Amino acid sequence: MPKSIPLISPETIKRFNHMSLAQIAVILTHSLLGNDILLSTAFNFDAPLKPMGDNYVLELFHGPTLAFKDFGARFMAQLMIHYQKKSSQKMIILVATSGDTGSAVAAAFHKLPNIEVVILYPKGRVSPLQEVQLTGWGDNITAVSVTGSFDDCQKLVKQAFSDLSISSKIKLASANSINIARLLGQVFYYFRAYAQLPNKKLPVVISVPSGNFGNLTAGLIAKRMGLPVSHFIAATNANRVVPDYLQTGKFIARSSIATLSNSMDVGNPSNLARIQELYHGDLNQMCQDISSFSFSDRQTRAAMRKVYKQSGYFLDPHGAVAYLGLKTYLSHQSKINGVFLATAHPAKFKDIVEQTIHHPIKMPSQLGKFLHQPHQSLSMQPKYSQLKQLLVEKFG
Ligand SMILES: *Cc1c(COP(=O)(O)O)cnc(C)c1O
Repeated sequence: MPKSIPLISPETIKRFNHMSLAQIAVILTHSLLGNDILLSTAFNFDAPLKPMGDNYVLELFHGPTLAFKDFGARFMAQLMIHYQKKSSQKMIILVATSGDTGSAVAAAFHKLPNIEVVILYPKGRVSPLQEVQLTGWGDNITAVSVTGSFDDCQKLVKQAFSDLSISSKIKLASANSINIARLLGQVFYYFRAYAQLPNKKLPVVISVPSGNFGNLTAGLIAKRMGLPVSHFIAATNANRVVPDYLQTGKFIARSSIATLSNSMDVGNPSNLARIQELYHGDLNQMCQDISSFSFSDRQTRAAMRKVYKQSGYFLDPHGAVAYLGLKTYLSHQSKINGVFLATAHPAKFKDIVEQTIHHPIKMPSQLGKFLHQPHQSLSMQPKYSQLKQLLVEKFG
């Protein structure tokens, strides 16, 4: 966590109303890190806020890999390039993915000199289009399918970082939300969302579809920086360790369960430690700012159908979970700016969306081009000895 979180004045937040995402990000980066970095290439796409019924949807899927992971990955890449300039040693970026992080990191670092990317993903637990986006890069990107869950992949990455016999030979860097840079890159779109709200007099409630809880942590940091958000909703699928924790005060990690919203299939979310740190472990204060609900796949599909029927809008399963979270919370409140985050383009989950809504979905060009590329991946059991061997043989 950052040692201190800077406070942004209401006047500055007001100035954001007339700024692009990249311009907002430059100002916030200066406050957070003291760095002056140009971010117009990292954020050359927007996070538009669109009205839906009485609420709003913040679309976070307009980046190159069509999921919100592009924001954090591209910001992190920009920072790493900034610092890596001074070093000639090759840097190996090791990343575990539940589906979207890996491709966002690959897109951000593809063909950059002196950088290699190794992606670990759970075999058979990512959508077919996600897999194509993980394995179609070549060059400095290596995809490894692990016969296990996302939690297994995340554990392997953490083991590599704590293994001194590796770090003495290879310069390893993390690209998971255990890397704070990635998290900070996600703070900006909360400010951009607020800037787009037409009526700022109403209290703001934001529903975040959550798995590893990096996105929610970024929102909580934005609030700590002075963004007037009155409440957050952490919406989860059947992987409900955090809703249970907020209700009982006891955190019990579990094995993850495979669901339709597979990028949120996490049973031991690594950002919960950061959230606890933000609130000094005070559960009551946490519950004042955060409500958390869990939804089944059946409810997720019903929400996708309902939204399509009411407004012709295609929700992907992750956005649908966030929508359900907002609706559940708002059922006993009115006169609120209710915002939910749509974290992936529905075409990324084409099969599920079409099966559910019975309507064909157009394939954006960013995705189409991956289908025609050659694909390659290595395969591995969830054993640290195998990862170590791979890293040493390839880069040692
Ligand atoms: C990663 C991901 C999530 C979960 O975000 P966390 O920061 O891990 O909570 C939700 N939706 C999509 C589409 C994702 O890729």
